[in-house]
Amino acid sequence: MSDTPNSFPTERTAIVTGAVSERGIGRATANYLAERGWSIGVVDLDDAACKAVAAELTSTHGVKAYGVGANVADESSVRAAIDELEANLPQIVALANIAGVSSPIGYLELEPAEWDRVLSINLNGVHYATRRVAESMVKNRLGRIVNISSVSAQRGGGTFSKTPYSVAKAGVIGLTRATARELGPFDITVNAVSPGPIDTDIMGGTLTQERKDDMVKDLVVNRVGNTRDIAAAISYLISEDSGYVSGQTLNVDGGLYMH
Ligand code: NAD
Repeated sequence: MSDTPNSFPTERTAIVTGAVSERGIGRATANYLAERGWSIGVVDLDDAACKAVAAELTSTHGVKAYGVGANVADESSVRAAIDELEANLPQIVALANIAGVSSPIGYLELEPAEWDRVLSINLNGVHYATRRVAESMVKNRLGRIVNISSVSAQRGGGTFSKTPYSVAKAGVIGLTRATARELGPFDITVNAVSPGPIDTDIMGGTLTQERKDDMVKDLVVNRVGNTRDIAAAISYLISEDSGYVSGQTLNVDGGLYMH
């Protein structure tokens, strides 16, 4: 045990899953972190698209970036992708588990395959990437992991996506707390960000003004969120100075859920 936190290496990598979608949280986060000097490992379904985003991050921000396609619901695919990222980038200090899918199917119409699809991507996917990255972080005795949950987990749905999504995102909070406890002795922190409605295309396409106005009615802040709101929260939780924060869920939701 030491009272002094381990310091960050000058060159360090953040792996961002779900970083391809043009108007998505992952893409915005990758850019936000690259702008602040992080090298970026891009993981998403399509290998060529990951490589294109990595090239764009390098040309825009002058940082090292590398992209590898992987399905986060497939453990061997995730493991292979992170092995390749680790071989091609500076030390992995951070992981942002952002890949996810929505699911608007009502409970009474729900088929087993939909339940499995949503749980395998939104919960198992977070576990697989975390499990692989933890091996490296334990060796380095340094790590920051941030998982994306959702206000849906805390309020029992009530948004576009329904029960399996809510269950998976609640599972992410449990995973966050349990891994924070188990990995803490190795100077690894694990936290969750729980977004409220964010202006991306995941809720059945780009939000119309009418849908946004409707969402705002439940908030204490007078607008829906944007991807930068989430990127900034992730950036804090993976920063060198956030090392005394672990196992927490940071609600970035315009005040939709207060507890
Ligand atoms: P998005 O659809 O724009 O981005 C999701 C990304 O994940 C895409 O790039 C997609 O290709 C990738 N992805 C999907 N399945 C994958 C798989 N199996 N393997 C690898 N990558 C995969 O959506 P977004 O709004 O940016 O969502 C990002 C995260 O934020 C998700 O986990 C979502 O559940 C969560 N979230 C979003 C909101 C919101 O209002 N937008 C609110 C709460 C939580």
